[in-house]
Amino acid sequence: MPPPNSNGSLHIGHAVFVTLQDIMTRFHRMRGDKTLWLPGADHAGFETQVVYQKKLEKEGRNWFTIPRAELYQEILDFTLENKKIMEGQLRKLGASCDWSREKFTLDPDIVKTVYATFKRLYDDGLVYRENRLVNWCVKHQTTLSDLEVKHEERVDSLYCINYGPLTVATVRPEPIFADVAVAVHPKDKRYKNLIGKMARIPLINKEIPIIADESVEAGFGTGAVKVTPSVDHNDFELAKKHNLPIIQIIDQFGKLTEPAPEKYRGMKVKEAREAVVADIKEAGLLQKVDEQYVHAVAVCYKCGTILEPRLLPQWYIKMATLRDGAVKAVKTGEVKFVPKRMEKVFMHWMKNLRDWNISRQIVWGIRIPVWYRSSVPPLRVRGGEEGLRTIP
Ligand SMILES: [Zn+2]
Repeated sequence: MPPPNSNGSLHIGHAVFVTLQDIMTRFHRMRGDKTLWLPGADHAGFETQVVYQKKLEKEGRNWFTIPRAELYQEILDFTLENKKIMEGQLRKLGASCDWSREKFTLDPDIVKTVYATFKRLYDDGLVYRENRLVNWCVKHQTTLSDLEVKHEERVDSLYCINYGPLTVATVRPEPIFADVAVAVHPKDKRYKNLIGKMARIPLINKEIPIIADESVEAGFGTGAVKVTPSVDHNDFELAKKHNLPIIQIIDQFGKLTEPAPEKYRGMKVKEAREAVVADIKEAGLLQKVDEQYVHAVAVCYKCGTILEPRLLPQWYIKMATLRDGAVKAVKTGEVKFVPKRMEKVFMHWMKNLRDWNISRQIVWGIRIPVWYRSSVPPLRVRGGEEGLRTIP
């Protein structure tokens, strides 16, 4: 049984899956097959934390001021209470599962398995820690996996801003102080003579190089884009490729920090955008604004807040090895999709997999079994009964 979340009552979707699985289980049991339907309950890390955070908000309490251990205990009590209700509902539905083997995802043996698995992945070189641009929710104060990012269509303004010898088109003028280059397509005749020369960031007059890259769409805006690696995933890749620096400018609360000029520091993105645009306009450097520009923005799947990419050291699972095994299993028929057409969706998903961020900055759930010495992180990975091992 996919363990239902223990943070509320079951809904009609649960009733559907319980009915279908119960039919299959009873059918095979009546045929005399060896049949096990294993029930479970999920502590549901981030999901439960979000539910509990809402409860605290209603009570007028601030999540971030409650000590970690106290908060953990509160959520544990809340979860165990809901687990009882959820199990009662499963029993009332008549689910013919084997209750004697029930599992909760925070049972000590499960936690031990999680630790041992992490250590095995680490020893096999399948899990690693790296400083990368991550999806950051300003409200929930955590990174999210790619699966927890929702893409929404929004109408915003596209600003055409003078950068000296050329004009750049952007929907994000507020972090321009962290620009490291202006990029054009290498075959774009308009800019051929400018490649290798310098452009100027408005308001601070800082010089940045004009670079050429195949990934720039000559047909987008003016055909010249600013490269701000700390706030955009594509720009981050571009910066890595061209050996450009990465300058942070937005903090964990979604506010501008250095290197923004003093007057913009501490402003939230929306406020800063208005202020920066007004100043660029006053400087006579705003050439055009398209107020009906439709584009996709990444938002938190829980609260809808626009995600701010941030550069943070996080733990990643290497997907290539796992993906190749999964694809092979489907291709050889070891795993079959019903209905068959979903195989295409699966293959598309597998093809576009990036290494998976498993770090979360949350209180609730199983912690990554890694200990850091403040000067040289990381120090030790602990797995199951195998004890500690020092990482060189
Ligand atoms: Zn959120």
